[in-house]
Amino acid sequence: MGRNRRRRPTRQREKGPHRRHVRRDPTQAAIPRARSVGDRGRADQQADRGRSIPGRIACYAWASPTTLLGLIAGVLTLGSGGGGRVRRGALEFHGGFARWFGDRIGFNAMTLGHVILGRSASVLDDLRDHEQAHVRQAERWGPAFIPAYLVASYMAHRRGGHYYRDNWFEQDARRAAGESI
Ligand SMILES: [Zn+2]
Repeated sequence: MGRNRRRRPTRQREKGPHRRHVRRDPTQAAIPRARSVGDRGRADQQADRGRSIPGRIACYAWASPTTLLGLIAGVLTLGSGGGGRVRRGALEFHGGFARWFGDRIGFNAMTLGHVILGRSASVLDDLRDHEQAHVRQAERWGPAFIPAYLVASYMAHRRGGHYYRDNWFEQDARRAAGESI
């Protein structure tokens, strides 16, 4: 149960499909740089090392339809003054279009296959464990990831829950990242 213990619970509000709510708090810049390789990060890296090269290729290929959408957003981000980098086997894009999109839709970070969009580099550092859990989900669900996510939102709503907070994929990601469910 890593991150939440170290964070003020009011810092994060969540909304929308596999995304974090926009943090409009002016203290945002003071959020500590996370732990780029925390306990969970080490677990991810070990899992990755345990995977064969054909296994890794299969994971990337299976998730590629979702990743493609992320890459389009990534190109738009790079073309609008944003930045990009590779962390834990995923492409991370921040600023530019990613920030504009986050402001419009209401998220801090969003994972699309092996692409993670974030409003800023520090937000990506802060939310990496959670977003990496969504990367693992995209590797398992492949082309069905986005439809399954939307179905899970609908099911949560049907049960009287919140379409985002009570979505199975979000609960699974919070569990994997050591956050409170
Ligand atoms: Zn999420």
